[in-house]
Amino acid sequence: MSVEKVKCLIIGSGPAGYTAAIYAARANMAPVLYQGQQPGGQLTTTNEVENFPGYVDGVTGPEMMVQLMKQAQRFDTDVRDGWVTKVDFSGDVHKAWINGEKEIHAESVIISTGASAKYLGLPSEQKYLKMGGGVSACAVCDGFFYRGQETIIVGAGDSACEEAHYLSKLCKKVTMLVRRDEFRASKIMAARVQKTENIEILFNTETVEVLGDDVGVTGARVKNNVTGEEHDIPATGFFVAIGHKPNTDIFKDYLDLDETGYIINTPGTSKTNVPGVFVSGDAADHVYRQAITAAGTGCMAALDAERYLASKDELPQDEPGVGSTYVDEVKA
Ligand code: NDP
Repeated sequence: MSVEKVKCLIIGSGPAGYTAAIYAARANMAPVLYQGQQPGGQLTTTNEVENFPGYVDGVTGPEMMVQLMKQAQRFDTDVRDGWVTKVDFSGDVHKAWINGEKEIHAESVIISTGASAKYLGLPSEQKYLKMGGGVSACAVCDGFFYRGQETIIVGAGDSACEEAHYLSKLCKKVTMLVRRDEFRASKIMAARVQKTENIEILFNTETVEVLGDDVGVTGARVKNNVTGEEHDIPATGFFVAIGHKPNTDIFKDYLDLDETGYIINTPGTSKTNVPGVFVSGDAADHVYRQAITAAGTGCMAALDAERYLASKDELPQDEPGVGSTYVDEVKA
């Protein structure tokens, strides 16, 4: 297996990864960025982005990601296909394996692997998700296709409320399935859906099966988990908004993660518990999850990595364990 030594390895290609790359490349860190399984990240499944500063008239998610990639490449970021399948952060040199084949030895690592939407896991849900037939985890991306139609949304958090409200402006009717007898969402978000006329909220209600034909979704069979009663709801779109899972499984043996799997960073920095390994974007952020916050933390990670590398260079190299002595007093 070939081994390559790099100064700065960036894992992931969303706004966090590309922003880290832009900063790292301009600081002569010769970053190598692996795009991962979804090049461009979650934004490539988003339609219009209107809240990223600088785009007066908005921009589509995929277009924005192409522009970010080109900006990173303009400063000679080495953007590569492939994903990291395994890491070993136990030594001074951080090891990563690409597609189980190539081995990278990195002086610094910036993790920008993002998060993925959760699904219910029902076979019928997965079937229509895979065939692009009416199951979606992103109302903002796909709501447009259901204009004037009836849709269902599962979930009771802030995301579900936000997305139900978004759908209500496009769709004839939105049925919201809440598994408990109350929302998890903040009061203001819950109140907003409750007072929207074309949103019907069914509490204590779970999905038994997503119904459909050869073309796509036609509705859902739901069950009241108190009475046990089942009934069918007609709909052409079935939206799932039950949270996200950070893409951090491969790091769990080395990095401190919270109970959901988000990487724990030192507050106000991008530092993880392993010196030389930094985190940016949704892999550590369950609160904001915005392109602009991801980009901001990407910038922080590159600056932190740059200072880490500079601090290593300033320390005497013949002392044992010198690579892991990234200490605050070395900061400029
Ligand atoms: P949350 O984890 O907050 O909510 C997930 C919801 O999905 C919960 O209501 C949960 O139900 C429900 N759920 C989970 N699994 C299932 C299942 N199998 N079947 C049915 N329902 C299920 O995730 P969000 O994505 O909503 O929010 C994540 C974070 O992002 C939160 O901190 C939130 O505040 C924040 N956020 C803020 C926004 C804003 O302020 N504008 C917008 C969006 C998110 P239960 O309640 O029963 O556990």
